[in-house]
Amino acid sequence: MHVTISTGIGGMLLDGRLYRGMDGAHPEIGHQVLDVLRPRCYCGARGCWEILASGPAMVSWMRDQQPGKQFTTASEICEDARRGDALALQCAEREGYYIGLGLANLITVFALDKIALGCGLMKSGSLFMNNAAASFARSARSFPRRESKSRSLHWDRMLDCLARSRPGSSDINKPTDRRIIPL
Ligand SMILES: [Zn+2]
Repeated sequence: MHVTISTGIGGMLLDGRLYRGMDGAHPEIGHQVLDVLRPRCYCGARGCWEILASGPAMVSWMRDQQPGKQFTTASEICEDARRGDALALQCAEREGYYIGLGLANLITVFALDKIALGCGLMKSGSLFMNNAAASFARSARSFPRRESKSRSLHWDRMLDCLARSRPGSSDINKPTDRRIIPL
């Protein structure tokens, strides 16, 4: 499965093909509810994955922590984290926690053998993927680990799939933008 994490969270490439549901609708994986006690999402529900772990979610969380300071983009926050800013690092940890949680749900529901993560925020994945993996490991407790045949992402195959499904996409030739969750 391929998941995009950027200004939103979405995408669902299953077995090399774009999955479509009823009437051709695409799945709204970014709107799986992770915590009903968290802020309301623009979709109307509370605590959706997207409202907790997208780039704008990082900005929103930072603004809540420091109302007087302006944060405009998640990449700005990630830059601060790289410089060692404590609050930005906490924000990145939080980001990892929710990414891992959402992925744990996906793998539990679909019994996947691999997940590819892509798009803008993953350029800073080194800041939060350790915590994502930890969060994932805590929550994904019931899926067929032993039966999974693959533990690594076939980049070429994935890139090929993306090229066929999203012609002209700007993110199809940047393998360094992608990380994999080791199972
Ligand atoms: Zn939502």
